[in-house]
Amino acid sequence: MRIALSIAGSDPTGGAGLQADLQVFHACGVHGAGVVTALTAQDTAKVHQVLPAFPNVVLEQLRVLVRDVRPDAVKLGMLASDDVARAVQHGLHTLEQHAPGVPRVVDPLLAASDGTPLLERRAIPTLIELCDGAALMTPNLDEARTLAGCDVSTREGVEHAARTLIRECGARAVLVKGGHAEGAPDDCLAQWEDGGGVALRWLPGERLDVGRVHGTGCALAAAATAGLARGLDVEAAVAEARAFVAEALARAEAAGSGARLLGFAKAR
Ligand code: PLP
Repeated sequence: MRIALSIAGSDPTGGAGLQADLQVFHACGVHGAGVVTALTAQDTAKVHQVLPAFPNVVLEQLRVLVRDVRPDAVKLGMLASDDVARAVQHGLHTLEQHAPGVPRVVDPLLAASDGTPLLERRAIPTLIELCDGAALMTPNLDEARTLAGCDVSTREGVEHAARTLIRECGARAVLVKGGHAEGAPDDCLAQWEDGGGVALRWLPGERLDVGRVHGTGCALAAAATAGLARGLDVEAAVAEARAFVAEALARAEAAGSGARLLGFAKAR
């Protein structure tokens, strides 16, 4: 059994957050384990309320779990507050002691699409520390702009941001997602090379005319985490995750009056 662990916020719609991650893990053939970092009240239109979990409870969930169960890959999603992010950091130290080298994917969530903050601003330095040594980091354009501190309105700007995130946050690979860009939604994959350089590749995307869809970022990072848990390298895991999201977008359906939800389950 291959196990992927999601450390994320709860989204009662099941379209994003921990509930979505577990569905993606299942669809991608791995067992899903989950540690809750925050509760939210939300529907398909917007996030109504955010309630971070008690940091000591987040830490205890992680400590108790990883003393017993060894995940093959870990995904970090919504961390809500600096105290929770620090609790996650401590929990990951315990994991490292029990099982060194488990690949980590960091989806550096700052806000939901409706603008609701999903991480308090003072937690950004802790989030950046959590990216150190990550196998993959998956910022969207806004997150890349904030975390790298550079303009991302041009391709050169995105490339500069990706390089900066590798060099300054210490992630071994960064996928800057272009889904929110005008025009083609191409993604930029930057990878640390053993010689000390950074290799950059643009991955062409196709714009699907499906309207507003909830949870695409969560699904992409979760599918990549599942790929790493199954032993794929980062490039293959990213390729598989992008194909997974493209398929899930094509199957997206309206479950409520707001954004559509991704179609995770294969049609029977
Ligand atoms: N709620 C939770 C718990 C999430 O993890 C996320 C996104 O990753 C969202 C809400 C927002 O999703 P979206 O920006 O797709 O609406």
